[in-house]
Amino acid sequence: MSDSYSVDLVIPCYQEEDALPQTLPIILDYMRAVLNRENIAAQSFRILLVDDGSEDRTWEIIVGLTKANPEVCGVKLSRNCGHQNAMLAGLSSSAADVVITMDVDLQDDIEAIADMLLEYQRGSDLVLGVRDDRASDTAFKRTTANSYYRLLSLMGVPAVENHADYRLMSRRALVALLAHNETNLFLRGLIPKIGFKTTLIPYLRKAREHGTTKYTLRKMLRLALDGITSFSVVPLRAISALGILIFIVSLFASAWVFATAILLPDRVVPGWASTALPTFFLGGVQLLALGVIGEYIGKIYLETKRRPRFFVEESILK
Ligand code: UDP
Ligand code: MG
Repeated sequence: MSDSYSVDLVIPCYQEEDALPQTLPIILDYMRAVLNRENIAAQSFRILLVDDGSEDRTWEIIVGLTKANPEVCGVKLSRNCGHQNAMLAGLSSSAADVVITMDVDLQDDIEAIADMLLEYQRGSDLVLGVRDDRASDTAFKRTTANSYYRLLSLMGVPAVENHADYRLMSRRALVALLAHNETNLFLRGLIPKIGFKTTLIPYLRKAREHGTTKYTLRKMLRLALDGITSFSVVPLRAISALGILIFIVSLFASAWVFATAILLPDRVVPGWASTALPTFFLGGVQLLALGVIGEYIGKIYLETKRRPRFFVEESILK
């Protein structure tokens, strides 16, 4: 049995006034029970609720919860910084030996926490929760998520399939993660890259019972694009490959035009097709290529500014 250790649960909350009062008591009860288990060596836990700039009563509720429960702490960000940054803010405020990140809506089966802690006690630095099935997701989310993971692996991004942000990190894995300073965070791509002993734990993903999803389509697309452009230069290479291909094709086309003009002068008609088609085609390819390059330049622009990723407005730590 490993030595006793402390655990922090980091939970980002954005407009969660409906879910938080329902789910927090469940989390608290569960954690208190887990710490009493024979086989769990953890001796204390805290729940770190990060208010990601909510405009509803989330912060008030968090303050109330910190007063009522010695284990609950709160961090309030100055504005909505996004799920990934909110998680990072929570992780940066943690001083525990072990941190677990999870969502407030309890879609991710809370029972997996005990298994995560057991894996940690067996020597894992990273324990990643992996969804068993996606039955609770909409058909749209299921198909887009599956194609997205396929695209990621095609692009060489080391993301673990069906692992979102439900995971355990040991202190040294956390220190390694926090050493990354990039502005555009895609934690589930970064984490497999830091190494250490990693274990995957399957769990059941349920439907959200309280409140509604805070991940709008827009936020999901942003995250998806960040996932690719922060880790992969494959799109840039694909552009070069396309450029080379078009260059070769155009060489043949020019040779053909030249040959017909010389050998069959009477067949050459002032052609609209041969002028207009390449113009449209090349115009399209160029715009696409510029768009992809622009996406990367935009990323460079944002990264070089080294802007802080979040501001803490208030924190109640214990
Ligand atoms: N969240 C956040 N900031 C945001 C959006 C979401 O902190 O800008 C939090 C949210 O409160 C929840 C977690 O991230 O605890 C996951 O969000 P949600 O459950 O709405 O996403 P879904 O499960 O539908 O993908
Ligand atoms: Mg959710």
